[in-house]
This record gives sequence, structure tokens and C-alpha cells, in this order.
Amino acid sequence: MFLPPAGTEPGAPATGPGLDFDSPASISVLVNKDRQLSDPGFRPPDLADVHGVQLRRDAAEAYSRMSADAAAGGSPLRAVSGFRSAEAQAELHAAYIRNQGRHAAEAISARPGHSEHQTGLAVDIGNPDAACSLQACFKHTPAGAWTAANAHRYGFIIRYPEGKELTTGYSYEPWHLRYVGADLAARLHREGITLEEYAGLTQ
Ligand SMILES: [Zn+2]
Repeated sequence: MFLPPAGTEPGAPATGPGLDFDSPASISVLVNKDRQLSDPGFRPPDLADVHGVQLRRDAAEAYSRMSADAAAGGSPLRAVSGFRSAEAQAELHAAYIRNQGRHAAEAISARPGHSEHQTGLAVDIGNPDAACSLQACFKHTPAGAWTAANAHRYGFIIRYPEGKELTTGYSYEPWHLRYVGADLAARLHREGITLEEYAGLTQ
């Protein structure tokens, strides 16, 4: 049975190592190509609708505040993709393999049980005009530049940063934001490290 230790509930401060990287319901859960969700069929119990996608409640509230501030600052965001079920992820991954081949697909798409989108804590964002949608050049667009500078203040990190491909296993994705809570996001942003590096899981 998984009982997340105190301090890892959504909204609780993340204060350092000792975070729960394993429980699917932990806001610091770490999933990547090598780490599958311990429950491969996990579905968050507290999904909420926000701007046309679904995120876990705390992530949805943080996204809503971030989106309002970004718009007020002249860089409106569009939520492109949030929670995806294991079944939806399986279909998506199969489609990537069909269209781009297995090698290319593995660099940009996760297998079911390995996707942050299944945790309900990840959101892909875009610009309202879809400029550079899901492309590296997104970082130079208003939404991309604004989130790179500000997302950590709302508890989100750019989960697959430029130059960290060997650590995260993913190509640079300036549009893929992951909610980890404000304390941990601020620390990762300040130190310029990934969730893997923070957790000591680099090879
Ligand atoms: Zn994504």
C-alpha cells in the first residue's frame, strides 16, 4: 500500500530530498522512460477542468492563476493538452510510431504508464495563434518566453529543458510544463536542474 509521507500532498511545501518521487499521487512523482508509474493505470482522483483541459485540482488552480497573469501581461497562453489516460496515451504513442517511426517517436512521445500527462500534473501550452505549436521555436514566442521566465512562480517547471536531453530522455520541449509546487519549482529554476538531477537519478 502506498501512503505518501507527510509533506507530499498537493499544495504542501516541498522542502528538499525526502520528497515522494514514487507514489503516482505525489506532486513530486518522477516518471520518465526508465520509471513507470507504480500503478500503470493510474487516474488522478481530483481532476478538474481548466481552459479546456483536465489537471489535478491544485495544478488546475495554479494554471488558472498563471494564465490570467500571462494574459494580463500581454502574453496569453492556450492550454493544448493536459491529463491523458493510459488508454489515450497508448493510442497517441502508437500514432507517433506509425507516422514517424519508432526511433523518432520514442524521443518525443511516452509509452503508457510513462507519461507525465497521465499524472494530471503536466500541461502542454501554446499561443492563441498556435505559433510554433509544439516546436522548439515556441521558446521565442510570447507564451514561450513568458512561461520560461515566470512559470516557476506558479509551481510549474519546463520539464524537458534545452541541453538536458540525456538527463530527461526527451528532446527540448519548451511547451511542456509540469506542476511540482512552488517551492520545488523555484529551487529547480534557480539551480537550473531537472527533476532527475534533484532526485539523484541521473546516469
Ligand atoms: Zn507534454
